[in-house]
Amino acid sequence: METLNTEKSCQNAAKCPIYSGVLKSMTHTASAYRQLYCDAGSTGWNNCRRFQVKMRTGKCPENILPNSLKSVDDIIKKYNLTLLS
Ligand code: SF4
Repeated sequence: METLNTEKSCQNAAKCPIYSGVLKSMTHTASAYRQLYCDAGSTGWNNCRRFQVKMRTGKCPENILPNSLKSVDDIIKKYNLTLLS
């Protein structure tokens, strides 16, 4: 279990599958994502596709990666997500 640094870690980290171990067998990848996005302060997590989708809809499908090439709009459309009001 990673220790969260609340100033530098994404607010979604505690419940995010990327942060909490879905990539257990790919430790280098998971650690690279954390360095680039999750633990990189607001600049990092604002660049994360998962974070962006969650900001718009309140959730993000499990299989979306932080560096997904799909746009936020494409993800919202594909997964039929409802925008937060
Ligand atoms: S993958 Fe994205 S949403 Fe998940 S903890 Fe990292 S920055 Fe936050």
